[in-house]
Amino acid sequence: MKNFMEDLVLELLDEALQANPEFCRCEKCRQEVVLLALSKIKGSYASSLLGEIFARVEQSDRQVRIDVLLAVMQALRQVAAYPRHNGQTKRSEK
Ligand SMILES: [Zn+2]
Repeated sequence: MKNFMEDLVLELLDEALQANPEFCRCEKCRQEVVLLALSKIKGSYASSLLGEIFARVEQSDRQVRIDVLLAVMQALRQVAAYPRHNGQTKRSEK
């Protein structure tokens, strides 16, 4: 079930990156965006509703795709503001 939402996040992330080439698409940032987006999606739906959501996603419900895309866009901006790809090694040096 979880993989299903993850697949949708990855699919929409690719779409968002194509439409917004200014965002970093390295492996680290992508992973970060996927994790952030997934936690946002989980936060915006009660867990009792998740089963229903997945059923709707299966029918490629437009509203679910829009919600997921919004979460992906928010996550992209968040990661772009504090990118991990060039901060991690330096931070541990200090
Ligand atoms: Zn990056």
